[in-house]
Amino acid sequence: MTGLPDLTAIEAMDAADPLRAMRDRFVVPEGLVYLDGNSLGAASPAAFAELEQAAKVEWGRDLIRSWNKAGWFEMPLVLGDRIGKLVGAAPGQTVVADTTSINIYKALHAAMSLRPDRTIIVAEGGSFPTDLYITEGVLSTRPGATLRLEGVDAPSIEDLIDENVAVVLVNHVNYKSGELRDMAALTKRVQDAGAVVVWDLCHTAGALPIDLDGANADFAVGCSYKYLNGGPGAPAFIYVAQRHLAEARQPLSGWWSHARPFAFEQGYAADAGIRRFQCGTQCILSMRALKGALDIWDDVDMHALRRKSVALTDLFIQLVEAKCEGLGLTLESPRDSSRRGSQVAFRHDNAYAVMQALIERDVIGDFRAPSTLRFGFTPLYIGFKDVWTGVEVLEDILRSDAWKDERFAVKAAVT
Ligand SMILES: *Cc1c(COP(=O)(O)O)cnc(C)c1O
Repeated sequence: MTGLPDLTAIEAMDAADPLRAMRDRFVVPEGLVYLDGNSLGAASPAAFAELEQAAKVEWGRDLIRSWNKAGWFEMPLVLGDRIGKLVGAAPGQTVVADTTSINIYKALHAAMSLRPDRTIIVAEGGSFPTDLYITEGVLSTRPGATLRLEGVDAPSIEDLIDENVAVVLVNHVNYKSGELRDMAALTKRVQDAGAVVVWDLCHTAGALPIDLDGANADFAVGCSYKYLNGGPGAPAFIYVAQRHLAEARQPLSGWWSHARPFAFEQGYAADAGIRRFQCGTQCILSMRALKGALDIWDDVDMHALRRKSVALTDLFIQLVEAKCEGLGLTLESPRDSSRRGSQVAFRHDNAYAVMQALIERDVIGDFRAPSTLRFGFTPLYIGFKDVWTGVEVLEDILRSDAWKDERFAVKAAVT
């Protein structure tokens, strides 16, 4: 881009935006600049309608009959295939179930079960912490198994992969910096060494085009309450490549993963398909909200989404660096948009207080310890004018030292 766009140019960008009408399908409070859809996506009338139908009619009137009549029992598989479409997975390989943390546990064990003569898990030192905590949990059940960490044991994941590695657990986009990995290239590198890969798609599902089948991925997990807009605590998903389904075993062998759950047999027999990656009864009300949110995605071109995402994040970086120069911010995300997800991080020594001041002025991003200001750009309901307004408020807070007020130093439980 040449020169700094002014407000007229920004408004022209919104007017020319092919995804602009999508904003009307979400509930975005007037006057709020919501740059945190990468933590909790916006609500939608479609999700509300599904919730109401599920609560008042299916639960309220039809009661237990709804397991069959309203398709509750099959819903994890039906919604799994719909998410599968958004992440490049052919039907029958994706199921909606449980949380991302629980699905990481299942995926790691299943991956280890495919490589019984190998003992090492590779992960990222800078990973989202739950991935590492769950990995510790998996290791605690497998005597002799050990962990190698990128950034601790070697600078890059590629340097850690050898013939002893069973599985590589890796985030497609880093939750803090927004750095995007090359899925096809890393998957190939892992598989060339005889290992399998588990991709964590929490920050890419619904944020950019993904081709799990095309990349020959082995396993993937992700959550549905971020870019997919499924609602707070909405259930996560897990993908297992078709070629592994017969063999891959996960240890949370609850009755919903059984081949014949309603035969009430005494012994366990895993379902032959992706159903084996469920555990027990699923949270149907949350799933119904997710169903409403996924209806919106039927009308989204993922490549148009990515183009807008790149334009939003490029604009944000350009405006912040021009308007807030010398005010203590350092770009923490890759400058090259091809290596960046749909979020931008800036470092500031007082990031927590700065973010609290922003939130008080109705610009919502989030703080990640120790010193990161993180801004998510969800192309379905964020416009270029939001970027402009967000940067104006940020500049004002930094220039006026408004963030130094002591009320912004008090930490809440959830940051
Ligand atoms: C948000 C996120 C999670 C969340 O896990 P939950 O079990 O849903 O709490 C896991 N991994 C990554 C990379 C995330 O960004």
